[in-house]
Amino acid sequence: MIVADAKPLDEVFGFVENYGKVLVLGCGECVTVCQVGGEKEVAVLAQTLRLKAGSEGKEIEFLEDTIQRQCEPEFVEPVLEHLDGVDAVLSLACGIGVNFMADQNLDVPVFPAVNTTFMGATVRHGEWAERCAACGDCILHLTGGICPIARCAKSILNGPCGGTNDGECEISTPENPVDCAWALIIERAKKLGTLDKLKDIIAPKDWSTARDGGPRRRVRPDLLLAEEEDTDVEA
Ligand code: SF4
Ligand code: SF4
Repeated sequence: MIVADAKPLDEVFGFVENYGKVLVLGCGECVTVCQVGGEKEVAVLAQTLRLKAGSEGKEIEFLEDTIQRQCEPEFVEPVLEHLDGVDAVLSLACGIGVNFMADQNLDVPVFPAVNTTFMGATVRHGEWAERCAACGDCILHLTGGICPIARCAKSILNGPCGGTNDGECEISTPENPVDCAWALIIERAKKLGTLDKLKDIIAPKDWSTARDGGPRRRVRPDLLLAEEEDTDVEA
């Protein structure tokens, strides 16, 4: 899932304080799960913004809506049909949703109400941790399913580095303990009986499949609807 944090209220209010009617728009997927951008958070943010606007003598109407996904036309298009009179959209989706809304060439601005942080897993209720950096050429078969790119501070492919200390990364602090990804990889290999395989040096990675190669795009002709087959999609 994509994990996000709520932006500070003052920052968000600053985006919309000079508009008359603002749609506060949530997303029903990842940001709902990590409890920063679903229906409940939309209600809380809209009400908080109303109170703040009132306390500052500003007349702003805040509308509320939450759609299943802000990154798919099927769900976004109905919202676009009901934007009459709306001066700005405040999106609680991840950055993908905000981009997708902006790509619709709206006449009104779309502002982000959250900071998109990483792709991660739920470690426990209320805690999420980064697990994949979408490098585009997965090497988890070489590392026992533990990602050195997302989970090692240096993203090194043959570790650990000299900073590893009792299973912790050198960036670890008492306030923010960080496992050494390579210590985890080694422990995992011991458990699986594959320690010998770690003697094989992992070759330098071709980062062109990652974000370093520029914005990525996939077109699956087998999935395109007939009327869309000849339509090019902007990357
Ligand atoms: S190797 Fe790449 S695709 Fe696989 S988990 Fe790590 S970052 Fe993600
Ligand atoms: S201590 Fe481990 S996780 Fe930290 S940078 Fe070195 S190899 Fe990576």
